[in-house]
Amino acid sequence: MKSLLVPSLLRGSLICLRRKCGKSNCRCCEGKPHATPALSYSRRGKTKILTLPPGQIPKVRVALKRYRQSQQRLERQADAGLRQLARRLRQTRKANRPR
Ligand SMILES: [Zn+2]
Repeated sequence: MKSLLVPSLLRGSLICLRRKCGKSNCRCCEGKPHATPALSYSRRGKTKILTLPPGQIPKVRVALKRYRQSQQRLERQADAGLRQLARRLRQTRKANRPR
């Protein structure tokens, strides 16, 4: 397979699919199923799965981590925004309180 360019941002989780290929003379018939790495993600409420070439796992892992970190950063910024808004509302109300 031609080398795959993994995008820099991905969401989902890496899983390992274990399956039987259907060939009667294969080791998977003797209880050693094939392990295929895959990316599981949800889209419009449905779980989807993309099987991956094993060599691409490290890059996929990095892209998943990058997404998680960006998400956490955004979450922290939004939390800070909420605290700031609450503080400003308190101050404004205190300043405008009738005496
Ligand atoms: Zn097999």
